[in-house]
Amino acid sequence: MRMKAGVIRMDEMSAFLREIDRRRREYAGSADNPEKETEYECRQCRDTGFITRMDENGCEIACRCKCYEIRRSKERMRRSGISVEFQKKTFDSFTTKGNAQLANAKEKAVRYVEYFANKEHDRHNSIMFTGQAGSGKTHLGMAICMSLINSGVAVIYMAYRDAVTRIKQNLLDEVAYDRELNKYTSARVLYIDDLLKGRLTDTDVNIMYEIMNYRYMNNMPVIISTEKTTDELLMFDEAIGSRLIEMCRRNIIQLHGKELNYRLS
Ligand SMILES: [Zn+2]
Repeated sequence: MRMKAGVIRMDEMSAFLREIDRRRREYAGSADNPEKETEYECRQCRDTGFITRMDENGCEIACRCKCYEIRRSKERMRRSGISVEFQKKTFDSFTTKGNAQLANAKEKAVRYVEYFANKEHDRHNSIMFTGQAGSGKTHLGMAICMSLINSGVAVIYMAYRDAVTRIKQNLLDEVAYDRELNKYTSARVLYIDDLLKGRLTDTDVNIMYEIMNYRYMNNMPVIISTEKTTDELLMFDEAIGSRLIEMCRRNIIQLHGKELNYRLS
């Protein structure tokens, strides 16, 4: 059952109350079976997300259990498509090793998260990390995603090459194609990892244009990591490149130089 935070429809509420009641009776019936209790992740609400209490008039009212937000955050993480391995890439686990370029990149990333709520719907609401493989750009992009998800913002992770391949497999099925594309156009925040990696066809360009143009027109933020420089992005396709650069203005972070190879050192 899904619902918006703070909005509970009456029919949903009564369904919840019935469910709480059912579980309470089930629990009472299993009092002599302590194993039963450990089946619930949250013993307080028995995984309903609600607890009941009496108000001052003696009426039973339902309130959110404190496990609810944690559960929502976990669910957002699951939906984001970010693997458990990538979930370890946080700001805390990013070490700058005394390198000024890395320190500056990290600072910009942290600041992006800090100001996200104020800038989400602005023209310049996005951030891009460019640089060679292993420079730490994916790590910082992920760290931004993790922070946003933990503060309640839904993020979708798009592994560029795989995602474009999957979209192309559905070219002949309009419904499946739209559904696949829609995942990336409609995401509140979209993280595109390794943008424009590999050989490109006209179809790849069209797909990326559709996604980027939609997000550009609707001021929807993107987080980008790419090995391409901004000049290369413009050369590859001016329409896409120029939109991206505009969306990421003041937040284009270039990580270049051998000493930055994060994986080797
Ligand atoms: Zn609970």
